[in-house]
Amino acid sequence: MKIVSSITAAVLVVLGLIFIVGSQGMVARLGLGILLFLGAGVMIYLGRMQPQVTKTEVTVKQEIDLTGDVKLEQMTCNNCGATLSKNSVEVKAGAIFIHCEHCGTSYQIEEAPKW
Ligand SMILES: [Zn+2]
Repeated sequence: MKIVSSITAAVLVVLGLIFIVGSQGMVARLGLGILLFLGAGVMIYLGRMQPQVTKTEVTVKQEIDLTGDVKLEQMTCNNCGATLSKNSVEVKAGAIFIHCEHCGTSYQIEEAPKW
């Protein structure tokens, strides 16, 4: 979307220049050229706004990950049975890794079957 708005802005600037240069004293053409420049400005503004929207989407995804970690807080170490803190849980490529701060053991969690 950013590329599209940038190209549109460039086209509007070129058209605006053509109208202003080719106006030859005609107020209507000069006004249209200025309008095209304003349109280009709006497109550049919108182009700059869009990356901020994608950033908020990323933060929403991170919040979902955090709720997953909250559940993991109640887990205990397989080796020593100590309660695992949030810092000892690490998510890598979709897999959950545990590094116990109590006994120093590191292992990957495999979801146990429900039956
Ligand atoms: Zn442990």
